[in-house]
Amino acid sequence: MKDQYILVANWKMNKTIEECGSFVDKFMNLILHKPKSKVIFCPPFSALLYMDGLLKDTSFDLGAQNVYWEKEGAFTGEVSAEMLKSTGATYVIVGHSERRQLFGDTDESVNKRLKAALSNGLTPIMCIGETIKERKNENTLDVIGRQLKNGLDGISNLDIEKIIFAYEPVWAIGTGERAEPNMIDEVHNDIRKVLNGLGVDGSDEIAILYGGSVNQNNIKELLELNEVNGFLIGGASLDADEYASIIHQSEQI
Ligand code: PEP
Repeated sequence: MKDQYILVANWKMNKTIEECGSFVDKFMNLILHKPKSKVIFCPPFSALLYMDGLLKDTSFDLGAQNVYWEKEGAFTGEVSAEMLKSTGATYVIVGHSERRQLFGDTDESVNKRLKAALSNGLTPIMCIGETIKERKNENTLDVIGRQLKNGLDGISNLDIEKIIFAYEPVWAIGTGERAEPNMIDEVHNDIRKVLNGLGVDGSDEIAILYGGSVNQNNIKELLELNEVNGFLIGGASLDADEYASIIHQSEQI
C-alpha cells in the first residue's frame, strides 16, 4: 500500500498530433482533480513538444521513449538527451524490451543511454525483464541480476537512486498475460537485493514499477502488493477512459 504510485503511459508508436489532442481533451474532463499518483505520459518523439504544451500548468509529467548517448552529430534518426529536455520532457524510458528485441539494444547500450539521461538531468525509467524461455529455464533472477549489474555499471550510487526501475516480463508485454502477484513480488524483492548488493543506500526507497498487460480490470490486486510502486502501462494507456479508470483506482487504495 503506497501514498503515491507512479503511473507511466508508454504510447509506443501510437498517436498523431491530432490524436494526442483528442486524448488530452477527453482525459482532462475525466480527471478533474490533481491525482495522488504521479502520472507521466511518454508519447512518440514527434508529439513531445505538442504534449508539453497541453500538459503545461497541469500536474502531469512528460517523458520520452528512448535517448541516444551522443551529444550531437552524424547520427541520423537519433535524439539526444539535451534535445529531449528542450521539448519539456523530464523522464525517459530506457531499455524497453521492444528496443532490446527489435532494435538491438543491449545492456551496454542501455548503460550509455542511462548515463546520458542522468548527466543531463533526465530521470530514466529503466526496463528489465526476462523472456518466456528464460522464465521456463528458471533463469529469471540471473537475467534480472545481469541486466541490472551491466546496465548500471559505472553509475554512481547517488545516480542509481534517481532511477525508476520497471520490471517488465517480456512475455507479459502487450500479450494480455499479466504476471501473477507472487512472481512480481519475488522479482521486485530480488531487484532490491541486487541494488543492496551494489551498495545502493536506501534501496527500499527506490521506485520499482511493474509493466505487462496491466489494465483497468486487473490492476486492483496489484495495487495491494507492497513491493510495487507503480506501473508502466502500454495498451491500456491509449484510451482516455481506461487510463483515467486506472488512475482513479490507484487513489482508492
Ligand atoms: C509496455 O509498453 O511497457 C507495456 C507494459 O505494454 P502493455 O501494457 O501493453 O503490456
